[in-house]
Amino acid sequence: MKVHHLNCGTMTPPLMPRMVAHCLLIETAHDLVLVDTGFALGEDRLEPFFLRTSRPRLDPAESAVRQVEGLGLDPGDVRHIVLTHLDPDHAGGLRDFPHARVHLHAAELAAATHPSGGVAQRRRYLPAQWSHGPDWALYDDAGDDLYGLRARPLDGLEGVALVPLAGHTRGHSGVAVDTGDGWLLHAGDAYWFHGEIFTPPHCPPALRLAQRFIAVDHARRLANLARLRELPGRVRVFSAHDAAELARCTG
Ligand SMILES: [Zn+2]
Repeated sequence: MKVHHLNCGTMTPPLMPRMVAHCLLIETAHDLVLVDTGFALGEDRLEPFFLRTSRPRLDPAESAVRQVEGLGLDPGDVRHIVLTHLDPDHAGGLRDFPHARVHLHAAELAAATHPSGGVAQRRRYLPAQWSHGPDWALYDDAGDDLYGLRARPLDGLEGVALVPLAGHTRGHSGVAVDTGDGWLLHAGDAYWFHGEIFTPPHCPPALRLAQRFIAVDHARRLANLARLRELPGRVRVFSAHDAAELARCTG
């Protein structure tokens, strides 16, 4: 398999470092697989609060569909999408691949379709992003051991597994990819800053506060972060929004 690391949405939130939407495009022997989708081409459904706090650039050239085309590949061959969660900066591009099977933790779809909690939790999802009715493939917490984490193999998709890492959202998960030459672990929004998985960890205060504010279960997020810190070096971990990690993956 061949793995491309893409930025499918730059954001410039106030008082914080520039953020990317780190997605993967995987070329398997049979299909193309996207891990997260960033923003849609021509995204026009974002809420004013999200626009103010995330300040997305919404550059058409950054959309996953344009980047797939730019690599000389056919977006129609993207038959699987694996989502870390359903926040608008991860699920926006679903509509550009309407025929793909969408793999996701069942708790995440439940959280997005039956939101509960405070205003921030009830308003974080944008159901319009999946109103075309994707072919969902849903999973629970069961799975095989992957260095102390649970890795759930996906239906019809060899070498890719969902790794439940709840906390940022109710069904938030990482996505593990067996490249044949070691594991990649896309940790989604389990953390936003590369220093958070260092020992000792460090994180700019504004990023720390923002993550605490948006997490549905802050304690669980921190517990999962501690588990990520213990992974052996042969698992290459990166998060969705850290520009330095993306540069390391593409450089
Ligand atoms: Zn995010």
